[in-house]
Amino acid sequence: MKGCLKLKYLDRIQRLSELIKTTGKVLALSGAGISTESGIPDFRSKDTGLWNQYEPQKVASIQALKKDPKSFYDLNFKWWNVCLRAKPNQAHVALAQLEEMGWLLGTITQNIDGLHQQAGSQRVWEVHGHLRGCSCLNCKDDYDLEQLFQNYYCPHCGGLLRPHVVLFGDTMSVDYFMAEKVMSGCQLLLVIGSSLQVQPVASLPYLSRQIVIINKEPTAWDNHATLVFHESASKVLWDLVSIMKKQTGPYYTE
Ligand SMILES: [Zn+2]
Repeated sequence: MKGCLKLKYLDRIQRLSELIKTTGKVLALSGAGISTESGIPDFRSKDTGLWNQYEPQKVASIQALKKDPKSFYDLNFKWWNVCLRAKPNQAHVALAQLEEMGWLLGTITQNIDGLHQQAGSQRVWEVHGHLRGCSCLNCKDDYDLEQLFQNYYCPHCGGLLRPHVVLFGDTMSVDYFMAEKVMSGCQLLLVIGSSLQVQPVASLPYLSRQIVIINKEPTAWDNHATLVFHESASKVLWDLVSIMKKQTGPYYTE
């Protein structure tokens, strides 16, 4: 039985490799699930989900920030510190290698942890923003994140500083609209570690001809996917890259 399961898994990996090679425009869409193996908890998972303990509108909204900056930053600094200390795992590295080998156009991510870039990905669209900076709500001056951790009031005008993270109540980021644009004509979307519950990102798969799901838990899109993997993202992507490196690619010949 175990052998069958193993063959089945390897068969799916093989099919994914062939699909990527024979498909024109391939993009990845990543969510929190890709970073759990880097030690960043998934806020929506059943057991450790932060959103089970707190209501998002109360802790991660622009209204919450304006109403009670201390509570907002006390809570958010804790989890941003986890993100800032994290290191990319094999899934991030594998995606960067797929991009470098010319098989993947780029990665759209819901994560703010910056781990795709740390792993070497060049084309990343961070639809929920990032942790590289902040700006003043009053004078609009930009600062790096260090400034925010030291003092969340603007050194220039005393206004409240906000992170370059998309908060509840914000409009969508420029990167989101760029991601929508780049998705035009997408032939294959690899959805990795996302349960596709957060709009409007959850609608992006509609823009792709085919999708492949790599997520530990079932998603509402599983029935529409060409291939589904409920194994860990790092295992699937690492195995995929290992197979593709052995085959002739745009840049690799072994
Ligand atoms: Zn200011």
